[in-house]
Amino acid sequence: MSLSSFYDRHSMTSIRNVEKICDIKGCEKPAERSLNIKKVKETSLELKDDSCRQVHMCKDHYRIFKKETKNDIPDYMG
Ligand SMILES: [Zn+2]
Repeated sequence: MSLSSFYDRHSMTSIRNVEKICDIKGCEKPAERSLNIKKVKETSLELKDDSCRQVHMCKDHYRIFKKETKNDIPDYMG
């Protein structure tokens, strides 16, 4: 019985509690990325709440986001 395994289990539980959910309308998947809301508003993705600065996105919506923003020219090239 090691103390560290107890803490591992305990921290896993608390991570689950604070897990972010995707901010895209109608989506309840766990978020994997957080993005600037300005960038997200340039895409067709609809947000549940657009009063926040950071948008949390699941893997699927992040893929759509990337697809819709891929034509953006990076700042350093301009
Ligand atoms: Zn999503």
